[in-house]
Amino acid sequence: MKRSTLLSAAILALTVGLGGQTRVTPPDNNYTPAQDVELGLQAAAEARQQLPLLRDDGVTSYVERLGQRLTAIIPPELQHPEFRYSFETVNVREINAFALPGGPMFVNRGMIEAANSEGEVVGVMAHELSHVLLRHGTAQASKAGKYQLGQVIGAIAGAVIGGRVGSVVAQGTQFGLGTAFMRFSREYEKQADIQGAQLMARAGYDPRDMASMFRTIEKQGGSSGPEWLSDHPNPGNRSEYIEKEAQSLRVSNPVNDRADFDRVKTHLRSLPPAPSSQEAARSQTRTRTEGSAPATGTLGRVEAPSSRFREYTEGNLFRIAVPGNWRELPASSVVTFAPQGAYGAVNGQSVVTHGVEVGVARAVRDDLPVATRDFIADLSQSNRRLAQRADPVNAIVSGRRALQTRLENVSDATGEPEIIQLVTTRLRDGSLFYVIAIAPEREYQSYEPVFLQVIRSIRLND
Ligand SMILES: [Zn+2]
Repeated sequence: MKRSTLLSAAILALTVGLGGQTRVTPPDNNYTPAQDVELGLQAAAEARQQLPLLRDDGVTSYVERLGQRLTAIIPPELQHPEFRYSFETVNVREINAFALPGGPMFVNRGMIEAANSEGEVVGVMAHELSHVLLRHGTAQASKAGKYQLGQVIGAIAGAVIGGRVGSVVAQGTQFGLGTAFMRFSREYEKQADIQGAQLMARAGYDPRDMASMFRTIEKQGGSSGPEWLSDHPNPGNRSEYIEKEAQSLRVSNPVNDRADFDRVKTHLRSLPPAPSSQEAARSQTRTRTEGSAPATGTLGRVEAPSSRFREYTEGNLFRIAVPGNWRELPASSVVTFAPQGAYGAVNGQSVVTHGVEVGVARAVRDDLPVATRDFIADLSQSNRRLAQRADPVNAIVSGRRALQTRLENVSDATGEPEIIQLVTTRLRDGSLFYVIAIAPEREYQSYEPVFLQVIRSIRLND
């Protein structure tokens, strides 16, 4: 039943207007455009930390210029004044590109290298931009019903960071945003194709170049081709309906400048070849392990928590106060606070021995005890020696009902027993807000009052 509803909605959304050009209607959306921006900015910040951005002005300013040509001609009905567009180039060889809600776009160097013309690059960018303008990311999240802002932030953070909660925080090396909610349905793909064709024509490009880029991507195949296609599946007859749409469009002020494109291609060939995403991820991990990034501190002597607390605010989601000598580790899950000496890497996995982690998890069930139980089951996937010896007890977080569960674990860093206090509560949208407090068992007594103070300080703003 659900399927047929979606199908008819898609048909309605693609009614042919009188002028011949197809009118694309943005799908229903429970989010505000401002929320698109908030989500996109947060995810983009993560992306910039994780992806090897190309810092070569000869290429990056070209991609920005193409992006600006497109954003300059957005039709009034699709303009969102709050959106913030950005166009960045990622130095990896896979043919891929992605755009985040509210405007940030990332184009792989491999995409530009594979393109046969500027129009082909613009084609992919116009398609991506159409997803942004039609707000497909949050529309998809709305369709899933339960996934509201907190969950989507959690999903993005989780997918981008690939972090693992618990005393073992395994740093994901894969940038897996696609799986969260950037993998679009065929209906949305068709909308983005049609809308993208229209944007191209307005910007002075032949929409047929988009179809030809899709064929280029398909032909490339192999290990580097299908990634974009799996996020943007061919709804069927893609080339045909793009060609058909192109026939109804007039290309205004055609851009006939091959020189720019050729210059960029020549310049790219003069650079060291782009690594694969996997190679890039490996070397990023190495840099993190060897460098001085906070997530790669050295495990060792841990200073006692200072009695002066400092405040930390996470977007619009929550406020928390933590001991002044705990740093936040932005590369772990949503956010981890730990003192120096209490975090580091063991066998390539980040480990925290003392501190607090705060995050949002998708709750698949409505009931807090059940959602908490599921969450603990998830935690024990990566913490095999995690044990729960008693039922959760009632607690209060930010004035709302919460559960506190005491867990026991054996630290992968020290081999010593540790105590984990898990506090869970629900956000208004049904997702699970959690706090994980970790300390070695032998020091737990001195940490417990600190943890309580931290938990009492939390203010949720959802
Ligand atoms: Zn798409």
